[in-house]
Amino acid sequence: MITVLIQKTDPDTDPDKSELGTLNRFSMTATVFSSKVIGAANRESGQGIPRIDPIFFEKGGHVSLNPSRRQFLQAGLALPAASLVSPNFQGSASTAPPKIVYRTLGKTGLKVSAMGYGIGFKPVPEVVARALELGINYFDTSRDYGDSESIFAGVLKKGIVPRNKIHIATKSPSRKKADILNDLDTSLKALGTDYVDIWHLHARDTPSAIPDEALEAMAACKKSGKARFLGFSCHDPKNMVDFHIKSEVFDVMQTTYSWPIGSYYRDEAVKKLAAAGKGIIAMKVVVGLTGLHLKGFDNPPASKEQEGPLAGIKWVLKNPAIGTTVPFMQKVSELEMNIRAMSEDFTPADEKLLYVMNEQIRPLYCRMCYECKGECPKGMPVTDVLRYLAYNDFAGNYHQALANFRNLPSEIREVRCSDCSSCAIKCPNGVAVRDRLMRAQQLLA
Ligand code: SF4
Ligand code: SF4
Repeated sequence: MITVLIQKTDPDTDPDKSELGTLNRFSMTATVFSSKVIGAANRESGQGIPRIDPIFFEKGGHVSLNPSRRQFLQAGLALPAASLVSPNFQGSASTAPPKIVYRTLGKTGLKVSAMGYGIGFKPVPEVVARALELGINYFDTSRDYGDSESIFAGVLKKGIVPRNKIHIATKSPSRKKADILNDLDTSLKALGTDYVDIWHLHARDTPSAIPDEALEAMAACKKSGKARFLGFSCHDPKNMVDFHIKSEVFDVMQTTYSWPIGSYYRDEAVKKLAAAGKGIIAMKVVVGLTGLHLKGFDNPPASKEQEGPLAGIKWVLKNPAIGTTVPFMQKVSELEMNIRAMSEDFTPADEKLLYVMNEQIRPLYCRMCYECKGECPKGMPVTDVLRYLAYNDFAGNYHQALANFRNLPSEIREVRCSDCSSCAIKCPNGVAVRDRLMRAQQLLA
């Protein structure tokens, strides 16, 4: 059972800088289906608008609602998650041919399926093959995902579609010029192709992670014809959008963008990129919404066949600036359901489901907003480690979680948060930081 406690506050006397005010922006999502309460509170623009107020957590990650707040009850938020599954759910039983919708990826002009495919750690060849058969034409992988490039290449060799009918993106983890050039050659060999459509630098969240020699290397990759277009992936687009545009090297950006992460934090960056003609690829679009790998809940979301991801992708695609999305998928039924996101409307039932799931994961899922308060005396990169843990807990991908954790410096891997009686880091969005880090260390260290 879901219950929510609402406390009315005044935006003028309760500045958004407060912890509780910050918490609101992820609660605001309820406004859309609760007609009277609240608009949107925009801390960036300073527009304080009446809003939903703090949601407090009870044990088990649930929230509690003051029953006097009838709007929420009327909106159906007190329903169990299972009852929020859309009545027209078809799952994998549907025999209707799935409709693939293609979008243009910025000024690259590439026509990409609005739902692409994230070829992450240990992709399942049968699912990738089915995606090719169905017309998915955008595939994103990386040198960092173990042998994913060669597994993908094995599927391509089956000749389901010609190479020139699909778009392949992969990424380099390197910063030095020679390494980036070598990485591209290694990737081409692993992929069994002589060019990639998009060549990214992987996970760059600060401009210092892209030194001048990396820019030179990327430009050289494009000039050689081995990479048609260039980009980088990042978790903090707000911090990187100006650098991206100013560098004049990159054609696309791959960024975190999802309901649980919150468009609030990323919309401004997405708008700027779109205005500059950059292609935008949304990643982490279903993380937190699969309902498959959640731990620590008494009552996990009970949507059939993971309708959370379907609703989540539909929501992302409501933004026309998003060219494509790259969910990681491990089952054919999951793929076939997610494909529907390209042609089905985002419904009130979708919104309710996302709201409920979002609140359930609140203490567990880091939204990568980079607004943690405080500093760890031991130098713990909190957001990074919480992200690695999310690969396991929300995407079921232990390999990816472990590989990322192992790349941390040894002095960080050796930190044990259990040695601290309390954590110096406070999350204004309700993440139980110390508990989550302790779990990451138990699981991955
Ligand atoms: S832990 Fe930090 S980055 Fe993650 S949601 Fe909380 S404030 Fe944002
Ligand atoms: S609990 Fe962990 S993150 Fe928090 S202060 Fe201690 S070592 Fe740092």
